[in-house]
Amino acid sequence: MAPTVLVSGVHSGPNPSPGLGVARSLRLAWPGARLVAVDYSAAATGLSATVFDRVLVRPDWAAADLAATCAGLVDAVLSEDAVFVPGLDLEAALLAERHPGQRALLLPGVAAFDAVRKPGVEAARLLGLRVPAYLLAAGIEDATEFAVAHGWRIWVKGPRYEATAPADLTALSGALHRARVTWGAGEVLLQQHVDGVEESIVFAALDGVLLGAAAMRKTLVTPEGKTWAGAVEPVEHAGLVEFVRHTGWTGGGEVEMVRDDDGDRHLLEVNPRFPAWVHGATLAGINLPARLVSAATGSSTTRPESLLANGFVRVVEEIPAAPRLLGARAAGAPAWPTGGKHPSAMPVLARRLAAGPVPTEPLDLDERTAADVAATLPVDPGDSPARVLLRPVLDRRIAALTGVARAVAGASGVPTGFAYSVKTNPDPRVLDAVLRADAGAEVISQAEARRCAAAGFPADRVVLNGPAKWWRFDGVPAKYGAVFCDSLADLTRTVDLIRDGSVHTDVLGVRLAPPGVPSRFGVDVSDPTGQARLVDALRAAPVGRIGLHFHCAASRIGQARWLREFTIAITAAADLCARAGVRVQCLDLGGGWSPATRAEDLTDALVRAVRVATDRLGTVDQVLFEPGKYLVEPAMAVFSTVLDVRDGPAGRAAVVDASVAELPDWTTHPHPVLWRPPGANWRRLGPGDEAVLGRLCMEHDRPREGLALPPGLRAGDHLLFLDAGGYDASMSYQFGV
Ligand SMILES: *Cc1c(COP(=O)(O)O)cnc(C)c1O
Repeated sequence: MAPTVLVSGVHSGPNPSPGLGVARSLRLAWPGARLVAVDYSAAATGLSATVFDRVLVRPDWAAADLAATCAGLVDAVLSEDAVFVPGLDLEAALLAERHPGQRALLLPGVAAFDAVRKPGVEAARLLGLRVPAYLLAAGIEDATEFAVAHGWRIWVKGPRYEATAPADLTALSGALHRARVTWGAGEVLLQQHVDGVEESIVFAALDGVLLGAAAMRKTLVTPEGKTWAGAVEPVEHAGLVEFVRHTGWTGGGEVEMVRDDDGDRHLLEVNPRFPAWVHGATLAGINLPARLVSAATGSSTTRPESLLANGFVRVVEEIPAAPRLLGARAAGAPAWPTGGKHPSAMPVLARRLAAGPVPTEPLDLDERTAADVAATLPVDPGDSPARVLLRPVLDRRIAALTGVARAVAGASGVPTGFAYSVKTNPDPRVLDAVLRADAGAEVISQAEARRCAAAGFPADRVVLNGPAKWWRFDGVPAKYGAVFCDSLADLTRTVDLIRDGSVHTDVLGVRLAPPGVPSRFGVDVSDPTGQARLVDALRAAPVGRIGLHFHCAASRIGQARWLREFTIAITAAADLCARAGVRVQCLDLGGGWSPATRAEDLTDALVRAVRVATDRLGTVDQVLFEPGKYLVEPAMAVFSTVLDVRDGPAGRAAVVDASVAELPDWTTHPHPVLWRPPGANWRRLGPGDEAVLGRLCMEHDRPREGLALPPGLRAGDHLLFLDAGGYDASMSYQFGV
């Protein structure tokens, strides 16, 4: 006898639920089956599809009593002597929990849900797949660190649906906030992006026995990355048999993966239901919904599986709207149902099921931070807001860089030193500390060069860089340790200045443009039109040594990509120099390292780069590197006073006497915030959904969002913004009086 099947999740849109595909597959196997559509919104488009004999619109999740909704659904299934195939992840999870062992519900058990919870480490182990690097981020601070470490090629993932790829701090902050409010999630999953081809496996199983599987390679995807067409083939997967057995899986499922360029497969997620493209597998002769229902009910299909095509494509089709449902959609302005993507109101259910973010209490400082801060403060409250130097931090960072230089020299055999990027923070106290560490200074203007001279730097320890190095050059003969030119015109002009005796430099070189990252800086040595001019100028320059400079912020593109870009650039430059008989002796590796980079990792990156360079160029006799924010960002803080604490719909906000004028680099890194009521100890504010607003009458004067303000916060308390010693210092501005 043909079975009766209730199928849920029937919305069909750009990001469809699987119900319609499941129903079509069942109809193909049993023309006489009785198919009932289940959804939680009358706006779900598939409710109008003629493949269904009946529709059942259940109360929406916001209003529903969850226990009653689940029990009502089970009653509906049992009273029809039917089975149920779910199409909505959270609905399936809820039913698994509330009605364990109910055999009419063709869905995995609670243990199986646990095994596939994102990022799916346990599932990946069973399936023999890798898991991309991930972080369960508590807030924007650890999330930013993860993003920087992975060159901003990351995903922010909802626990069930939704993934966004934020490319900067503002987008990341928005994505975290959305994930927290949409899914009621405390911690938010961040995952490294893996380049490669996306693949999926759809499968069906009953009580841990695999009933079949098919693999799909996406051949067309929507701008949101959703499947629009795919190639399907049968798949034998030993790992899948083991996974299904181990989890005791019942129901449909999907394994989403990406295959990288080396052929390694990485797990993206396992879904506890059939995917929306499941009917594509049916068309390829593998009807998994029918196999599942047949195995569960014992009714054999009336039509055999048959291969119609090895691939599928979606089309958009107008069908008559069911009259009863038309009214529900006609009310008000035409709009995509409930919040765009989720007519079945999954986010509402998620929020109801999640415990929700627990407000974080301010945290005690670790001993070292407490000592660092104590050494700097108190600040006279009359001076608030004030930027303060954390002297012990500066000293430690200088020592760390000295250690890096020594380690690079030791590992590469090439004398190595660093030249601090003055523009990052030209504070005389910083320059003095650099000078006393026997390090150099890297400047981008004559004014900065004069500042270094005034601070006591000998001329041969100053590196002159940048596109405007001769701006306001007074012609008085000047000396530098090294000069790197930013363009061919800059090089020609500099060679002329050296020839006529106005400039002396030990090293002359060019900055290499990164080949694969858009940049306004540097010379593209692979461009044939400039090559002759470049080598002629270098050969003609009356200098002792020739150098090459490469700078592309690793804090933006990640260390791995930095090394790839460097390798391509230095290889092209080395080829050209070898052909022209120009010998390169000095290698200068830019700044742009995140302050969070560990000294060992910085050493490692530099050693690798030097090895690549000496392999391509032959030996060099000097390596320079140019840290800026790596040295100074953590070494200063901005002290401020709370003026006002206000309530808003999204929690509280504190208005302080500091602003984005003192913290202009708020867009690139979140400043950790310490709090101290008068007379008390400093404590650190944890992640949350509240904000600190600045004193300026500007909408964007919101120096810090995404934190939890302490319950007792009041006007007159002090906040200390850490990590304000880099561009926050050099770019700070006067706004008003
Ligand atoms: C700005 C700059 C640096 C320092 O960059 P950070 O991001 O502060 O580390 C180093 N070298 C050159 C040539 C620069 O222009």
